[in-house]
Amino acid sequence: MREFSFFMPTKLVFGQDVVKKAGAGLALGKKALIVTGRSSARLSGALDDVLEALSGEYVLFDRVENNPTGENCQEGAELARSENCDYIIAIGGGSPLDAAKVMAVLAVNEKSPLELYAQGWEKKPLPIVAIPTTAGTGSEVTPYAVLTIHEEETKKGLGGPDLFPAVAYLDPKYTASLPLQVTIDTAVDALSHLVEGYLSNRASSASDLAALQGIAVWGGVIPALRSGDISLQVREDLLFASMLGGITIAQTGTTFVHALGYPLTYFHDYPHGRANGIFMASYLEFTHAHAPERVEMVLELLDLPSLNAFRELMNELFADYVGKLHVPEERIRAYAEKAAQTKNVSYSRGTPSVEELTEILKENIL
Ligand code: NAP
Ligand code: FE
Repeated sequence: MREFSFFMPTKLVFGQDVVKKAGAGLALGKKALIVTGRSSARLSGALDDVLEALSGEYVLFDRVENNPTGENCQEGAELARSENCDYIIAIGGGSPLDAAKVMAVLAVNEKSPLELYAQGWEKKPLPIVAIPTTAGTGSEVTPYAVLTIHEEETKKGLGGPDLFPAVAYLDPKYTASLPLQVTIDTAVDALSHLVEGYLSNRASSASDLAALQGIAVWGGVIPALRSGDISLQVREDLLFASMLGGITIAQTGTTFVHALGYPLTYFHDYPHGRANGIFMASYLEFTHAHAPERVEMVLELLDLPSLNAFRELMNELFADYVGKLHVPEERIRAYAEKAAQTKNVSYSRGTPSVEELTEILKENIL
């Protein structure tokens, strides 16, 4: 019997020059806080387009770090308060987009970032316009923000229905300046959202709608990812697949791939998508025992003949990284114990035990 709800309130505008075409309609209020990383908003051309289209006032916060912390978000929120900004325009990869969501909350709620995890928030965050410059996180259509939490030595997601951006403008040309390895890292993040969402025990007919199309589109770009020849058409497909991945996990959340990936980012500086990619093949093998038809559907849509072919693909895309990390056994056990406590693991089919997670970690990073 089908039973589901589906909530995705972000207005999507996808295509060439959508920011320019929005013109004055880009503004959601009187004064914008524009949130970006250090260079990508300029490099991608997105900031120029925004400044050209925007007629109203703004103030720029261009200091979002990769894998942002709560303190980094506090800084931006203070600027929003002192400058009386009433909405946010976020430009960048998942880091600036996620940081902007937390700034939107902190700008109107007198709380510390850690308190948001423990207590939530009362006042409605500032509305956000999201403009992605990577094709990976899908943050422009999710109600999540992932922060680095030093107190807990990990990365942790914050979620809430009012964290969905109000509007997202997706223009593939903004991803054209991405270096090849970042293109691959982020593309694999998008794939992990689509696949984890489809294989999650929270998947529904509605989330499958996005996941299945996204996996098929991603399958079509495999030859380009392998060759490194990334045309604008491929960029468009990747951005579309990434958006569909976001729509999927907005409903399902992610599974244990993300839980195992966080320590690789926190302790070993692996970019998020690469940290997921290291575990994807083992994840499919584990999940095959619990949902064989679903795993086979993933392989079919990717046009890969076997689980082994999937592992070979990951080995090829991450040739410089697979088998290179040698984490001592006692640390592996600690990573598995921490991962086992996350919601991501409880959303995974077959709900892996600490022992099973330890085995998967050993298989890939011992
Ligand atoms: P990112 O951390 O936002 O950016 C990675 C690097 O790419 C940065 O150095 C960035 O430069 C650069 N960059 C971005 N766009 C570029 C462009 N068009 N041209 C050249 N360089 C560019 O990477 P990301 O993978 O998109 O985001 C990762 C973050 O998102 C992680 O914190 C992850 O946990 C989170 N995440 C969130 C969700 C969600 O649902 N909210 C889902 C998955 C992951 P700058 O420093 O100049 O910006
Ligand atoms: Fe992710």
